[in-house]
Amino acid sequence: MIKFNKPYITGKELLYIEDAINRGELSGDGYYTAQCSKYFSSKFGFNSNFLTTSGTDALEMAAILSNISEGDEVIMPSFTFVSTANAFILRGATIKFVDSQKNSPNMDEDLIEALITEKTKAIVVVHYGGIACDMEKIISLSEKYNLIIIEDAAHSIDSYYKNQPLGSIGHFGAFSFHSTKNIISGEGGMMVVNDKNAIKRAEIIREKGTNRSSFFRGEIDKYGWVDIGSSFLPSEVTAAFLYAQLEDLDSIQTKRKEIWNDYYTQLKSIEQFYYQLPVIPDYATNNAHLFYIICPSIEKRTALINYLLNHNIKAVFHYQALHKSSYYLNLLSKTNQSVKPLKNAERYSDLLLRLPLFPDLSKNDINLICKKIIAFIRES
Ligand SMILES: *Cc1c(COP(=O)(O)O)cnc(C)c1O
Repeated sequence: MIKFNKPYITGKELLYIEDAINRGELSGDGYYTAQCSKYFSSKFGFNSNFLTTSGTDALEMAAILSNISEGDEVIMPSFTFVSTANAFILRGATIKFVDSQKNSPNMDEDLIEALITEKTKAIVVVHYGGIACDMEKIISLSEKYNLIIIEDAAHSIDSYYKNQPLGSIGHFGAFSFHSTKNIISGEGGMMVVNDKNAIKRAEIIREKGTNRSSFFRGEIDKYGWVDIGSSFLPSEVTAAFLYAQLEDLDSIQTKRKEIWNDYYTQLKSIEQFYYQLPVIPDYATNNAHLFYIICPSIEKRTALINYLLNHNIKAVFHYQALHKSSYYLNLLSKTNQSVKPLKNAERYSDLLLRLPLFPDLSKNDINLICKKIIAFIRES
């Protein structure tokens, strides 16, 4: 069976975990957390970065730091993971969903302004598959209406918008190191704080609402409860694993991009049969987080999934648009509102199919997958 994903192990993970154990600092913010932080600031210029236990936690931190409260409105795409919305729902926000673009699952930047009201507090941008949204358009809205920008950069490590690393452009950037992402630590994440005024508070919120980090730096002589917060910091075991991955980031990315380009070249010809391939705008780079095709109908997609499964290939669809989720429909029904269709988001829920992509995927397997997809299209 060709799996959809296989976590890539560099070989140094156990060594570093053993070293973390020997150092006797197993809770958070020890040697390996510092190593990872240093790496992120020197490689990507993420000068204020905070490792978290998940991408979800990083988004929850961003929602707290954005001072979202009951009744505030937050704008985000519907075609995204539940955590993008949950983080803000937990703070009492009302979510306004934006449709995707015709040629990309990313949200349509031109539809945002119509959703802005005096209650709008923030825009959450999701760079789907690590392909940047058009940040200039979003920044100009943020300046015009004084809105906070949060980048859900869960897919976006090592990807850029006009030479700026994704996650460094908005006020906050949230990354994920979940096993399905490019760089992994099992579960894990990172909050990047670009808004200088929020750095001190980020440190406190991440440490259960205490000023313990200042205490450890010797800035104060005792620490206490100063704000709300939670336990968002990962253990040194997680950070040690992550550091092993970071040392190999360039080779992981090279392998992923080779696979992506191979798929793209071999499958280009299926576009004449109304299957679409990803589109990378001029302002965006491709970090090869995922490779997908858009099928012409849901029936064709289901048939293709089954056909590939019969040939021992696992391909999977992706998000169910959040504006049609049972949770959101329930919320709307409580205030007697009905859901407005978001055609493109619904189309990606029904038609998008992700192909296996992980560094150990062999050239033979890629050839086989492409051959089977083309055979299916010819036969159907
Ligand atoms: C993976 C993902 C998250 C959540 O990350 P976790 O580390 O799994 O909590 C959030 N948003 C998007 C778009 C994701 O793909």
